[in-house]
Amino acid sequence: MSETQNDQGARDLRESGDNDGGAVNGNADEAVADSNGKAVTDTNGKVVRSEEEWRRILDPMEYHVLREGGTEMAHTGALLHEDREGIYRCKACGAELFRSTTKFDSLCGWPSFYQPEDAAVTTSEDRSHGMVRTEVRCARCDSHLGHVFDDAPRQPTGLRYCMNSVSLDFEER
Ligand SMILES: [Zn+2]
Repeated sequence: MSETQNDQGARDLRESGDNDGGAVNGNADEAVADSNGKAVTDTNGKVVRSEEEWRRILDPMEYHVLREGGTEMAHTGALLHEDREGIYRCKACGAELFRSTTKFDSLCGWPSFYQPEDAAVTTSEDRSHGMVRTEVRCARCDSHLGHVFDDAPRQPTGLRYCMNSVSLDFEER
């Protein structure tokens, strides 16, 4: 424990107004909600919700995976063996993420796709759990979906988007 000795000399009284920057505004009236209240988007089309709202909308497992970056147990996901034609959407915001035509059986225990829809996901380095992985999130609501690995040489892109079933909704088409 030591006290700072010289903060007295550094004291500097400033009278400038700090609150005219206009950078801070959480204006709810700029947001748009659709009729069923499912999606609330800002002016850039991003879904903006408080963690409290996410907790209310998602069940505990969905919340854990989508909002806390959790992972469902391998071989347990409801969509693992889904092989109908259709669209896979983000469970949190409904954005279209993958088409069934890019789904393949990677034997890894999670639904796998070789390519997302254009600009549907964002990726970033994830150094958690002592590994270096590439995390995949929904571009629209920033929810965690899974990880992408470049270990699928027999797929057109060579990539395996390894997704959690609970992060996805399937819509047959
Ligand atoms: Zn989303």
